[in-house]
Amino acid sequence: YKSVVLAQRPKATIVPGETFKIKENPMLSERDLKDGEVLIEALYLSLDPAMRGWLNGYARSYVPPVQIGAVMRGEFIGRIVASKAPKTHPVGAFVTAMSGWTELAIAPAKDVKILDVPANGKVTDALGVLGMTGLTAYFGITDVGQVKAGDFVVVSGAAGATGSVVVQIAKLLGARVLAIAGSDDKVAWLKELGADDAINYKKPTFAADFKAATKDFIDVFFDNVGGDQLELALSRAKPHARFVLCGAISQYNNAKPKGPRNISMVISMRIKLQGFIVFDYAKQYGAARKQLSQWLAEGKLKRKETIVPGGLAAAESALVNLYNGINTGKLMVEVKPV
Ligand code: NDP
Repeated sequence: YKSVVLAQRPKATIVPGETFKIKENPMLSERDLKDGEVLIEALYLSLDPAMRGWLNGYARSYVPPVQIGAVMRGEFIGRIVASKAPKTHPVGAFVTAMSGWTELAIAPAKDVKILDVPANGKVTDALGVLGMTGLTAYFGITDVGQVKAGDFVVVSGAAGATGSVVVQIAKLLGARVLAIAGSDDKVAWLKELGADDAINYKKPTFAADFKAATKDFIDVFFDNVGGDQLELALSRAKPHARFVLCGAISQYNNAKPKGPRNISMVISMRIKLQGFIVFDYAKQYGAARKQLSQWLAEGKLKRKETIVPGGLAAAESALVNLYNGINTGKLMVEVKPV
């Protein structure tokens, strides 16, 4: 079976054919399992902006770097093909696992989550609206951003997996929402999702459009992008605005990441800037998933997904294209057709 390993640390953007290498491994079967373990085949691999950061050897971060020669880290939806924990993890069950970029994996059953597909849901929601990105949106808006009715919320990276859920939850909480994304199609979809206004940051008029769209100034900025958009948002913050720093995708591929030049706005406007990592909320995942599942069942939460075909071999180029905005909603690679 195939897996993808880190071959070389990129200096800036990922270099197709150099950063990752495909490795052939000897076949696995039930005989390779110890008690309490399961053998899983991967079906859909999650691609996440944070992956670029995990390739840096030096970074102080919330997870250690992926080592050279190691299977690339990642979460997938898979199916159990052999089990030595059959009571809790029977053969045939759909699961999520952090087993990385691989077609087959052995994992302790305790680390493998059995999927529960709610009404109106589908298996792939476990990587999107009911998975890490949906949970990030939920805790970022409700806990970090403390969004309440009447707030003016601006969301960057709004048509992605996290941002599109942020937009909808903010609306469900009674906020007014301005969404920012990188194409006119994405802008149109964000309006369908209920955003009060949406603008395309790739237009040459973006800075002026942003200023016009924020004439009442910002209560909450949910930032997935960093860089220039964070700088612009700082210049349009209300006194005591809350800035939810979720991600900074515009800077992940830069050898020399840029920070906002107007950071002193934080002082003059008494802005609260708060970063967060969704994993810190693990104890509350169950309750959040229940709420997200209910919204999904009620038709209050919509989602799109971009599924790239072509198996594991397509993962590297799909990841490169994540930083070019190929996806609307959650980006996944189909490792094996279901
Ligand atoms: P998305 O589905 O949002 O995909 C990334 C999107 O970012 C692309 O579709 C693209 O859309 C946009 N983008 C790419 N490059 C740039 C750029 N240079 N400038 C502006 N926009 C860009 O990914 P996720 O939902 O998985 O992640 C969104 C953000 O949330 C990331 O920053 C990620 O690191 C962060 N995150 C943080 C977590 C946490 O715990 N703090 C957990 C999960 C995610 P477009 O066409 O609009 O450019």
